[in-house]
Amino acid sequence: MTDTSTAGRTVLQRRQDDAPTSGAEQAVPITVARGDGIGPEIMDATLRVLRAAGARIDPEFIDIGEAVYQRGHSAGIEPSAWESLRRTKVFLKAPITTPQGGGFKSLNVTVRKTLGLYANVRPCVAYAPFVPTRHPGMDVVIIRENEEDLYGGIEHRQTDDVVQCLKLISRPGCERLIRYAFEYARRNGRRKVTCFTKDNIMKLTDGLFHQVFDEVAADYPDLTAEHWIVDIGAAKLADTPETFDVIVTLNLYGDILSDVAAQIAGSVGLAGSANIGDEVAMFEAIHGSAPRRAGQDLANPSGLLLAAVMMLAHIGQGDIAARVHNAWLAAIESGAATYDIAAEGGPSLGTTAFADAVIQRLGQEPTTLTPVSYQRSSAPQAAPAARPVAAAATKAMDGVDVFLHHRDVTADDLAELLQRATDATWLKLQMITNRGVKVWPAGLPETFCTDHWRARFTAAWPGGASRSHVIDLLHRLDRAGLDFVKTEGLYSFDGRPGYSLGQGQ
Ligand code: NAD
Repeated sequence: MTDTSTAGRTVLQRRQDDAPTSGAEQAVPITVARGDGIGPEIMDATLRVLRAAGARIDPEFIDIGEAVYQRGHSAGIEPSAWESLRRTKVFLKAPITTPQGGGFKSLNVTVRKTLGLYANVRPCVAYAPFVPTRHPGMDVVIIRENEEDLYGGIEHRQTDDVVQCLKLISRPGCERLIRYAFEYARRNGRRKVTCFTKDNIMKLTDGLFHQVFDEVAADYPDLTAEHWIVDIGAAKLADTPETFDVIVTLNLYGDILSDVAAQIAGSVGLAGSANIGDEVAMFEAIHGSAPRRAGQDLANPSGLLLAAVMMLAHIGQGDIAARVHNAWLAAIESGAATYDIAAEGGPSLGTTAFADAVIQRLGQEPTTLTPVSYQRSSAPQAAPAARPVAAAATKAMDGVDVFLHHRDVTADDLAELLQRATDATWLKLQMITNRGVKVWPAGLPETFCTDHWRARFTAAWPGGASRSHVIDLLHRLDRAGLDFVKTEGLYSFDGRPGYSLGQGQ
């Protein structure tokens, strides 16, 4: 019955009962992975509901997860699976178990990045009074940037004491994600888009995201646009989530906040998500493989089923998406509940019986909860067009930041060493910081210092530095036995400094 795998090889195989559904419209090929733990049970339940609802889909199965990791594929996916994904461009994925220990790459991060799935869309909806929640009016969609930020995985140990992780934010990356969020809001009858950043601290990286948000918002005057600093915004989201509508944010903040939002809406077991790219889209529940619940017919299939609803809308089967979603809402309203959302002491259904309860209600709409509708045959939400790229800015070099590994030295002593070594260079020592705090000139003895120093060297006037000056400087530092571990050019773009002042602001 299941997809067949032989060592080192994934065999794509259609199961008998997954044969293409008949009907006037051609079935859409989709790639399906049944995953690990509770994955196979909730996937089977989900596909059974989709078939009963008349979904025009033609699933083909690939192997991912634990067994594939164990066969030596470090990202839990085999080369042959990419062929299916690139052909069908639609991936319905059950959760997998990530092996413990080093040497394994996250399957999700690999799939997102390899296929350019730049937007992660996660609706977090309360179903009060049928699923207990403190926030009965909550209906928030979090749209998270999916490829950039600290998730680039570019990390280095630079000294005995200090490691770093590089946060990369690009203008095109911000723009297509933010434009997607506004398009999503418009298309789904939403009224407000809220941006969360920490641009009071990270003025260049988060500042770029905020700036692009403001630029894109100007193209959507029909929608309200607002910005919150992420810490107070997160507090407000946890306290009064009903005041938010669509939230768009960077990768790390979105990762954390979308779990918080799903949990306070009722249960992480209820939320589905979509990962959208220009070509391919992936749909999955937000929870993991819950290995302790596996094989007991206990797990809640709702998160995956609601992800499949998003998939149906994405492939232009809005009629079936609404049919499944409304039947699910009607089932929830009737008291159908798996153990995780059942009222305390109340009866609960297993995975199979819960899916049956949804199937029995196909064609019905909820009466207390709000029924949903999707456009009948909307084309997949296309990648929003970006603005034409602005002409390249005039870039000039003002100096260089040199990062040094030096133990057991004071800031004043280090300044003396650096000045002696670079006495005859064009670039002059302007400042030393330690973990971003200025320690020379005029540092305070109270400042705790590590073995990781940044020395800023600048030319006598803005734009007066060159790569040759930097090379000359580094030669001299090397000859003086100073251990520089990294450099960052100080560039201005059209006369505006492209670097922070670096005084722990
Ligand atoms: P988890 O989400 O799998 O489970 C946490 C707990 O939540 C479970 O013990 C269970 O009580 C409950 N739960 C989760 N889903 C449920 C459902 N559908 N029905 C009923 N109860 C449910 O998180 P975890 O235990 O931290 O992770 C288990 C494995 O899943 C790990 O290997 C982790 O790496 C992996 N994981 C995979 C994905 C993915 O594939 N997208 C996402 C998260 C975690």
